[in-house]
Amino acid sequence: MTTVLAPLLLINIGQLVTLRDAGPQLGPRRGASLSELGIIQDAAVLCLGGKIVSIGATKDALRDPWLKKNRKKVVEIDCVGRVVLPGFVDSHTHPVFTQPRLVDFEKRISGASYEEIAAAHGGIRSSIEGVRKATKAALAQRVSAALADFASHGTTTVEAKSGYGLSLDSEVKSLEAIRLAARAWPGTVVSTFLGAHVVPPEYRGRSQEYVDLVCKEMIPAIAKRKLAQFVDVFCDRGAFSAAETMQIFAAAKEHHLAVRGHVGQLSETRLGPLLGYDPASLDHMDYVNDADLSALAASCTVATFVPGANYFLGLGRYPNARHFLESGVAVALATDYNPGSSPTLSMPMAMSLACTHMKMSPAEAIAAATVNGAWALRVANRKGTVEAGKDADLALLDVRDYREIPYWFGSNRCALTIANGVASGPLHAGEKT
Ligand SMILES: [Zn+2]
Repeated sequence: MTTVLAPLLLINIGQLVTLRDAGPQLGPRRGASLSELGIIQDAAVLCLGGKIVSIGATKDALRDPWLKKNRKKVVEIDCVGRVVLPGFVDSHTHPVFTQPRLVDFEKRISGASYEEIAAAHGGIRSSIEGVRKATKAALAQRVSAALADFASHGTTTVEAKSGYGLSLDSEVKSLEAIRLAARAWPGTVVSTFLGAHVVPPEYRGRSQEYVDLVCKEMIPAIAKRKLAQFVDVFCDRGAFSAAETMQIFAAAKEHHLAVRGHVGQLSETRLGPLLGYDPASLDHMDYVNDADLSALAASCTVATFVPGANYFLGLGRYPNARHFLESGVAVALATDYNPGSSPTLSMPMAMSLACTHMKMSPAEAIAAATVNGAWALRVANRKGTVEAGKDADLALLDVRDYREIPYWFGSNRCALTIANGVASGPLHAGEKT
């Protein structure tokens, strides 16, 4: 791994996928605009001080007077015809855990369902003990290792949820571990408090008491310490009801925290009442009432698909992405990186699944994994496109055509990641430093 801290000039980019402004409409991409990638052939990008300062054709970039004068100070990366795109924005991950869930994995292979595993004290609850016992430093180390792995796959912005502590102390410890790891990573982390992941074992049968704890103690403590930008709730059968979710969303709003939700993974929840809380994103969306799609399309809420979970749980069924797209819903893609249902941190893998199992086009998958992920985290003013003034978040992939990104499934083609202007990755021999 090489780390470079200097002005960066990428030249000879075969396809620069900019996703720059697709029109007058402000907001996440919908419909046909999801396919407008804004590709520049034989392109160059100049980054200074962690920001993109210019993009254009390589021949024009090399004629730039500032560059001619400062060429020696600039780290030049010859991309030799490969593809550069915005660093992926992974808007749904659960990185604060201690162990893989291998017993659940084997049980599922031999036929147990998600809910049967949960009933046998597997599932989310089995990760709680490890997190409660772990030190903050140990959790931070796990998160740091995951963040490095995300970057090596081209991801530069990661949403990171707590949610395996489920007590005030353990949730605060989890969010502090995220903060510690984020400070040591060149990329950008957006933190989410997911105290309402499941009802912890000591509150079994008393879910309302646990919801009160989340609303009256956890959310105020986390808001006061500025440990999270979002509050998330797992609103589904076996987790929290729509009424409980709304109570938690209302508490979040009271403390000036934005909300997002896990909705429709196992069963249908009507979206209308939840949309009243202006969630940044509703995620999973396997079971959604068709009648709710027009309300969703009329809102700024992004529907985030996490097909890695459908794949890893061995489900035949995936969300009906075409139906969402045709209804004008803004959709994003994320990994749902977690030890139980989606142990992958590869956005290209999520994109490949979206193409093969959800019939999204490669162009739609790229927009969903970058610019719409940025909208889902409300960081689209800084992230998700390659434009002058945006953060210098880029991924160089060892492919000649953007459609190869979801095509070569299961292999990591990322050759270089630039996060806030810091480059890391197996730089190729053409690099001049
Ligand atoms: Zn999740």
